[in-house]
Amino acid sequence: MKDSQKPQPILLIHGGAWAMPDDAIAAHERGIAAALAAGWSALSRGGTAIDAVEAAVTIMEDDDTFDAGRGSFLTRDGRVQLDALLMNGADLRTGGVACVEHLRNPIQAARLVLEKSPHVYFVGTGAERFATQHGMRLVDNTELIVPRERDRLMAFQLAEAAGAPDTTFSGHSSDSIASTEAPRNSVISAEAQRSGETPVFALDSATEQRALATEIESALPDELRIDDPTLHSHDTVGAVALDQYGNLAAGTSTGGTLSKAPGRVGDSSLIGCGCYADNLSAAVSLTGWGEPIMKLVLGKWAVDRVAAGATPQAAASAAIDYLFTRLGGHGGIILLGPDGQIGIAHNTPRMAWGIATANGTQLGITRNP
Ligand code: ASP
Repeated sequence: MKDSQKPQPILLIHGGAWAMPDDAIAAHERGIAAALAAGWSALSRGGTAIDAVEAAVTIMEDDDTFDAGRGSFLTRDGRVQLDALLMNGADLRTGGVACVEHLRNPIQAARLVLEKSPHVYFVGTGAERFATQHGMRLVDNTELIVPRERDRLMAFQLAEAAGAPDTTFSGHSSDSIASTEAPRNSVISAEAQRSGETPVFALDSATEQRALATEIESALPDELRIDDPTLHSHDTVGAVALDQYGNLAAGTSTGGTLSKAPGRVGDSSLIGCGCYADNLSAAVSLTGWGEPIMKLVLGKWAVDRVAAGATPQAAASAAIDYLFTRLGGHGGIILLGPDGQIGIAHNTPRMAWGIATANGTQLGITRNP
C-alpha cells in the first residue's frame, strides 16, 4: 500500500467531564498531554490502536488527577475499587475487569484478558488472580488511596448523614427520578450494615453529624463540596485510536462514583455501555453518571448511528442529548470513525479532551459546538 493510501493514525482521549474548577485545569491538561504523548508515540512507531489506547490510559491511571488507578474516588467503605475495558475493533476481541482493588493499572489487566483468555470479563479476586498468573504485580489498596479522596469521602458521608441531599445520582433538578426520591434517612439501615455498605465516616448522634458536616463543608474547597451537582467530578479516563493498519480500538478505566457501594460496577467497563470498538462502525468511550449510561447502552447506541451514516460528531451530540432527555444523565463522549472522523460532546460544564495526529496535538477543557 502506498503511504498516501494508508489510514492516517489518530488518537482521541478524555479525562474529566464536570464543572472542573479553574485550579484543576492545569493538572488535567498536563495529564492529557502526557497521555497523548504516550499514545501517539506507540502509534507513530507503527504500534496498533490497542497499543496506543493502553499506553494513553495507563498514563492517566498513574496520574492521581483522574478517577482511575491511584487517586480514584473511594467506595462507601473507604477503598479504591477499579473497573476497565479494552476492545479491539478489528476482531471484537475484548477484555474487561471490575472491582479490582490491588492492581495499579486495570487497563493492562484488561489487555491480558483480551489477549490471553477465551473469556471477556473477570471480576474481583478472580480478575486479580488472572492478572498475577500473567505477570502483573498486586499492590496494597492503600497505595491507591490519596488524602484528597479521603477528605472528599468524609465530606460526602458526613453531609449525607446530616441530611444533605445526595445529588450524585440525580441528573438535573427537575428529573423524575430526583423528584420522586424519598428523603434520605440519616440512620443506616440494618440491611446496609449487613451488606457492608456502612459509611466509613458516620457519627452516632444526628446533632453531632450535622454540626461536623456543616463545619467540614464550609471549610472545603469548591471541588470537594457536595451541595452542587455540577461540582461532582467525573474523572473517568478513556481513549479511542485508529492505527495505520486501519484498525480501531477503545479503552475506558475508572474508579467509579464517589461513595459507591462496594461491588457496584458502572458503565465504564461494560461492553457497549462506557466503551466499544468495531471497525465496521466506530470506537467510543464515555464518562459520566454510569447508571443512566448503562440503561441506555449508550456506547453501542452511538456507534450504531455512525454505522447507519451519521457523522461521529452528530452521533456524539445525539448520544449526550439522548442521555439527558431520556434519563436526565450527565456526561461526555468521544467517538472515532474508521475514516478518522471524530466526535466529542459533553453536557457537563467542562470536559478535558485531547487529539493527536501526525500534524500535532490539540487539547482543551471544553468542546461544545
Ligand atoms: N462512568 C463512571 C461510573 O459510573 C463514573 C464517571 O465517569 O465519573 O462508574
